[in-house]
Amino acid sequence: LERQVHHHEKLATVGKIAAGVAHEIRNPLTSIKGFLQMMRHGLEQNGLQKEHSYTTVMLSEIERVNQLVGELLLLSKPRELRMEHLEMEELITVIAPLISSEAILHNIEFDMQLEPTPLVYADREMLKQVLWNLVKNAIEAMATETNGGKLTIRSTWQEREGLVRVEIKDSGPGIPHYLLDRIFDTFFTTKETGTGLGLPICQRIINDLGGKLQVTSKGFGTTVSVLMPGVKI
Ligand code: ADP
Ligand code: MG
Repeated sequence: LERQVHHHEKLATVGKIAAGVAHEIRNPLTSIKGFLQMMRHGLEQNGLQKEHSYTTVMLSEIERVNQLVGELLLLSKPRELRMEHLEMEELITVIAPLISSEAILHNIEFDMQLEPTPLVYADREMLKQVLWNLVKNAIEAMATETNGGKLTIRSTWQEREGLVRVEIKDSGPGIPHYLLDRIFDTFFTTKETGTGLGLPICQRIINDLGGKLQVTSKGFGTTVSVLMPGVKI
């Protein structure tokens, strides 16, 4: 319990700081990006190949800052939820091509096993974001450590508990047991360019939607499950 209280205090503090600065970062960043794109165009026109290639790096670094700021904003000021009844199977099918192309890029086999389930009551975009964050973690785990592997997304209906379960399973190196209770901490990351914001954001969203996140990792591979109450209508 103490650990959890500490965690929430930390989230609240981060939230206040983030909300204060995120917009102030984003606005100048947008203008830097705009002028840089114009410059880039000019460099190309004048045949300045080397300088042109620098702008590629600059733009991708700007994108990274942009993404970080976006994550901080989401964590600090979650927008109003737009709740609707959703079919998990359909939602996963919609993001499947995106997952597939990212998997191919990293030499990862991608498999889907989708069972029809009762509907869930949730915010579509938020849920997509959660699944995408979890998939990204799975792919990143396999891309760096084992170079390739297998990603499986499964949806099932747990009738007894009344829960729709979506599993994101990878064949990566797994998570050491002594780190399992830290991975949801804000800013906890083991990656060189990680933000440590993905899982806290997922946790926050799923809690807000009335669901639960579960992580199991035993030596090899990791399975993260999203559990959402099934709705009977
Ligand atoms: P980030 O991805 O920026 O590091 P996250 O909050 O998404 O931040 O994840 C926190 C940490 O949890 C990761 O740095 C990694 O150590 C661990 N982790 C999360 N998902 C997995 C996974 N599928 N396999 C192995 N480790 C994982
Ligand atoms: Mg992540």
